[in-house]
Amino acid sequence: METLNPLESAQQQIKRAVDLLTLDPAVYEILKEPTRVLAVSVPVRMDDGHVTTFIGYRSQHTDVVGPAKGGVRFHPQVTMDEVKALSMWMTIKCAVLGLPYGGGKGGVVCDPREMSDRELQQLSRAYIQAIAEFVGPEKDIPAPDVNTNPRIMGWMMDEYSRIKGYNAPGLITGKPMVLGGSAGRGEATGRGAVITIREAAKRLGLDLKGATAAVQGFGNVGSNTAKLLHEMGVKVVAINDVMGGAYNATGIHIPEALEYSRAHKTVAGMPGTTPLTTDQLLTLDVDVLVPAALENQVNMGNVAGIKAKIVCEAANGPTTPEASRVLEEKGVFVIPDILANAGGVTVSYFEWVQNMMHFYWPEDEVNDKLERMMVSAFKHVYNMKETRGVDMRDAAYMVAIERVAEAMSARGWIN
Ligand code: NAD
Repeated sequence: METLNPLESAQQQIKRAVDLLTLDPAVYEILKEPTRVLAVSVPVRMDDGHVTTFIGYRSQHTDVVGPAKGGVRFHPQVTMDEVKALSMWMTIKCAVLGLPYGGGKGGVVCDPREMSDRELQQLSRAYIQAIAEFVGPEKDIPAPDVNTNPRIMGWMMDEYSRIKGYNAPGLITGKPMVLGGSAGRGEATGRGAVITIREAAKRLGLDLKGATAAVQGFGNVGSNTAKLLHEMGVKVVAINDVMGGAYNATGIHIPEALEYSRAHKTVAGMPGTTPLTTDQLLTLDVDVLVPAALENQVNMGNVAGIKAKIVCEAANGPTTPEASRVLEEKGVFVIPDILANAGGVTVSYFEWVQNMMHFYWPEDEVNDKLERMMVSAFKHVYNMKETRGVDMRDAAYMVAIERVAEAMSARGWIN
């Protein structure tokens, strides 16, 4: 069986980093389970008048560095183990960037595609009512994740503010700008990914001007990554989404692809391109490959064919652990997800800081701060890789766990 249970996988990765750093085994013992996991019932009166009870979760992995931070997903396959694992990965991601947060994650088992706007709003409000005592700007700050968006964040912020009796924008990030959302949040994950690609290319002596790239997924992360690569002079030769792919060996005009995708809800069929499958896209002879769609896309079924020099994991968990080892053996420079897509949570952090100060920054200031934090995180991880002779993924975990363990020691949790 190739793909592990996400919780086991997160536990193994943390254990590996604790062992590589020869830390007190108590660090793993404390981190192997979240501090707190809530399972809540979320009753919603549906449009036809009957009440359906949905199941929701919120996992707070650790508060050793600061309040918990992480998204809420609405998906039929949400499980408690998945939410626990995702909260653990958020601890790691925040620690790689040096953000003053522990990991959190939430989810509701539901299929938002089958729900009306009114039902979705009721669900969002009922979920916040159920967890209101456990979250808050100083405790646990949710954000968007799969199938949740700024509109849903706005409803959740409103519900929490009503319960508390005051306006609390710092409860949640990824809000609409008018409710205290941050400039630059929309493209932050793509921007962060492109910064890591540029830093990796520098280390490899690869000139990105005229280099080629393929991007899987054309949603928030994929489309912004493709747009910013295009602006940098990279030839993005292939893009795709769940409906199909588009290929042009001389480079796709990404601003036109964005317009086409807005109008047709897919990039497939874009004039001047030929169709291609996901496996064809992943195995193209390009310099940079960006999986920005789903988990386990790079796997033992296609990894042998991957030719890219840099794989930037803009999605969460796009490479199976086995395929990750093969990429390493092939000498591919892998930018692990916990570093590659950390631009999103970093600008979420900026949003929370602005909410707490009630003072808002222009977009160039947000982008400058993001640039500095991503470059610094990349440097730390790369230095760990070089000094300890490990790959980028192990290095990122080691940077993160070292920081978390230092905080545990400073609090007197471990010797
Ligand atoms: P999204 O829903 O906006 O876009 C997902 C894209 O992937 C869509 O274009 C969809 O059509 C495409 N897709 C789905 N299945 C596909 C398939 N089989 N082949 C090709 N394309 C497929 O989601 P997003 O916010 O862009 O998130 C993408 C990934 O990035 C997820 O793993 C998410 O957890 C991760 N991520 C997102 C953020 C963020 O700020 N949005 C931050 C960190 C990590």
